[in-house]
Amino acid sequence: MDRHPRFGPAGVPPLFRLMKASLSDIPSLIREEGLDAFEYEAVQWGKKPQMRKEEAQKLKLEAKRNDVWLSLHGSYFINFCGERAIVEASKQRLIACATAAEWMSAHVVVFHPGVYGKKSPMEALKTCSKALEDVVENMLSLGIRNVRIGPETMGRTYQLGSLDEALNLCETVERTQLVVDWSHLHARDRGRFKTIEDFRKVAQRIENRLGTDALKNLHCHFTKIEFTSKGERRHRTLQEAGYGPDFRLLARIIIEFELKPVIISESPILDLDAMKMRDILQEELDKS
Ligand SMILES: [Zn+2]
Repeated sequence: MDRHPRFGPAGVPPLFRLMKASLSDIPSLIREEGLDAFEYEAVQWGKKPQMRKEEAQKLKLEAKRNDVWLSLHGSYFINFCGERAIVEASKQRLIACATAAEWMSAHVVVFHPGVYGKKSPMEALKTCSKALEDVVENMLSLGIRNVRIGPETMGRTYQLGSLDEALNLCETVERTQLVVDWSHLHARDRGRFKTIEDFRKVAQRIENRLGTDALKNLHCHFTKIEFTSKGERRHRTLQEAGYGPDFRLLARIIIEFELKPVIISESPILDLDAMKMRDILQEELDKS
């Protein structure tokens, strides 16, 4: 699949549900909206894939036919920083998600690394990267070769997943794909993105640490977000005034650095905000 900026929803848009669309109908419906990415939500999954292989393969075929980029959001029931038993169960859950991702040819399994708990951030990071190395080894031994695992930047201060921690995981573990949730970074640092320079700094940091290709091929989540002193409170739609960050500033960075990101909308109005972001990028391209 060729690389260019892509936009799509996190999960099945409400309208598609009303239409009683089946999973394999989703790619063509997304294409009709002029979108070209879809993040399948496996967020409630346990230790086994909760879909049939045939269903995943049908989705893969339709995604290919409609040139829709697939990713999979892994289980929320994952904590790679916790006690041994929790880490072991988390490994199985991530592998279950990676198995289904391989069936549907999804490019990346996005996941939340964990919470610090009683550990220091440094200890938590070490525990996490060691667990991820095991996951990757296991994936390879199971023949899962095309899926990358994607640690996501997290929005709450008690969660492992600052930008530097996510970068560190991508530096130390093979077959990783950085997932930048811009709204989480904004919430975690209580309003980090105010000017274009704030976005530029993050882009430059990613390039310095992971290289130009990693920067160009980012997997991103974007919404507006409400936050408190502890970070993320809730996602907001793009048209709600008084919340950040401003997608237009990121669009200018996409143009400046010639990025080809996949941008997943986690807004309450999923696909509608994905279309809005696509249009904002086009407006900025027309100006440049
Ligand atoms: Zn997430």
